[in-house]
Amino acid sequence: MLVAYTIQEVRDWRKSHKHADAVLGFVPTMGALHAGHGALIERARRECDLVVVSIFVNPIQFNQLEDYQRYPRTLEADLAFCDQRGVDLVFAPSEQEMYPEPLDTYVEVQRLTTHLCGAFRPGHFRGVATVVTKLFNIVQPDRAYFGEKDAQQLAVIQRMVRDLNFPIEIVPVATVREPDGLAMSSRNQYLTPEERAIAPILYQGLQAALELARSGERSAKALVARARQVIEQEPAVRIEYLEVVDAQHMQPVEHIMAPVRVAVAAWLGKARLIDNVFFDPAEKSGPES
Ligand code: AMP
Repeated sequence: MLVAYTIQEVRDWRKSHKHADAVLGFVPTMGALHAGHGALIERARRECDLVVVSIFVNPIQFNQLEDYQRYPRTLEADLAFCDQRGVDLVFAPSEQEMYPEPLDTYVEVQRLTTHLCGAFRPGHFRGVATVVTKLFNIVQPDRAYFGEKDAQQLAVIQRMVRDLNFPIEIVPVATVREPDGLAMSSRNQYLTPEERAIAPILYQGLQAALELARSGERSAKALVARARQVIEQEPAVRIEYLEVVDAQHMQPVEHIMAPVRVAVAAWLGKARLIDNVFFDPAEKSGPES
């Protein structure tokens, strides 16, 4: 496994390794790798000839300097994690390498970013779309893997790739959970043991909404009320948003007629946790993610 710290090293590696018909799979991450990232990497390894993982804590997608500064950085362990999973190249650039001077050019995906995290984290998705564009231009993958845990991010990237004609297939990967249902996240490390014990309530709330939908309920309001009822049993959890949105454009719906996501963001102590479930009214007992 090669570790590249500069853009030039990635370009040189690509020139010497990428033959005309070799499929290159790419997994962008911010590091502090866990089994959720592992699922993306393993899927890429199964489906592609070459696998590239990037590890970069992207400053322009953070709203608060404090959140950026305290974000976990565990490069040594991350490199071992990638090596064990057969990754060919890890790109771990410095902030200076990615942003040698302030940007004048950004990528902004509209409409899909007006609700959910987009409403509460101004500039976040602009930062995500811009860094992913830069990484796509540097790595030039054929396929890129994104987790459904960050469903709005996934939708934004899918839209960006369509709108701007990136020759890249975006592959969604189902959310990986702890045995008690908590979605794996690098930010789970911020939870105290007491908070960690409470945290699965978010998924339990979403599951309760999903059950109601599967039993035939089509009112978004009713699903939200059901999820809230469960989550609010834990007073330590502060809900930031809890919404039913259409799965493609991330716009709120009132009546469920097409695939939706029930999405939640909540604060638990110092951690901001997000999670979502997918529901397709055409498949009453379809797979959940
Ligand atoms: P991050 O390092 O948090 O920016 O995440 C990098 C990629 O891993 C994104 O595509 C995430 O959606 C994905 N990811 C993070 N956590 C999970 C999880 N629990 N299950 C599946 N994918 C995940």
